[in-house]
Amino acid sequence: AYAACEQARRSPERYALAQERPQRTFTYDDLHDAISANQLELYLQPIFALATGELRKFEALSRWHHPRWGAIRPDQFVAMAEQTGLIEALTRWNLNATLRMCAPYLRRDPGLKCAINLSPIALTSAFPEQVAAALRMWGVAASSVVLEITETAFVDNPVALMRKLVQLHDLGMKVAIDDFGSGYSSLAYLRDFPVDELKIDMSFVRDMFGNEGRNELLVASMVDMAHRLELHVVAEGIENSAVWTRLGELGCDCGQGYYPGRPAPAAEALERYAGE
Ligand code: C2E
Ligand code: MG
Ligand code: MG
Ligand code: MG
Repeated sequence: AYAACEQARRSPERYALAQERPQRTFTYDDLHDAISANQLELYLQPIFALATGELRKFEALSRWHHPRWGAIRPDQFVAMAEQTGLIEALTRWNLNATLRMCAPYLRRDPGLKCAINLSPIALTSAFPEQVAAALRMWGVAASSVVLEITETAFVDNPVALMRKLVQLHDLGMKVAIDDFGSGYSSLAYLRDFPVDELKIDMSFVRDMFGNEGRNELLVASMVDMAHRLELHVVAEGIENSAVWTRLGELGCDCGQGYYPGRPAPAAEALERYAGE
């Protein structure tokens, strides 16, 4: 049955890579092979406490080194992975690569966490047990892991999603709502799901002083709301020192972005930001 299912997924459909270069395409098989043939590379981006500048987390981000098209960012292949069922394999790959690389650092510093992006589609009923097994295998505490729920598609069964999130939460993992304030990441998530953290979408942060002050007002309101709900709040997309400083004044807990630190290959990022 698995083979038949696998066969059905292998559609000949080609996925366009970048809009401006429509001749660059890839197929299900390309990505399927990339996951098994080690063409994926783990990148980590540091997340810091705004009040002290201390390192708090690393966010795991995957990169695909395509033999013909070079480095492809996840924006270009995650949606396709979600549509074809490859997201489960991608998530497993990312989880294992992250725990393998970060385990010694997480064990040494209980205040440090790693954050994994989790599409609701990858949250199968087997997932909670798979994560628990991976945590045992790498000797990492569940409390060292943040699961960032990325809402790229409408969730058609929020009750089932909630049940699985409660399960993960009960195991001791933290749950974050990624890209909050944009797309489908709505207030209903905060009402219905066991959430610990809110990540303010970078569209509000990158140009925080633009938009006639509205971006800054919205960021301040999101920080205030998060704290009233006793949630941890992280701003992403900090590209200059003025934004970094202002976010600290607004009481935002943590920040991430090109100004404090770009994503880098895992070993390099660990050495640079967490090495002794
Ligand atoms: P995200 O979780 O919102 O991750 C933040 C993205 O913003 C990353 O892009 C990061 O490289 C980029 N970024 C960080 N700081 C800045 C900044 O200061 N300015 C700007 N302009 N960009 C910044 P990336 O690596 O291309 O990832 C894109 C998205 O793909 C991520 O958004 C995440 O949702 C998703 N993603 C990445 N890896 C995986 C994965 O293994 N599984 C799943 N399901 N999704 C993944
Ligand atoms: Mg994320
Ligand atoms: Mg985000
Ligand atoms: Mg995003």
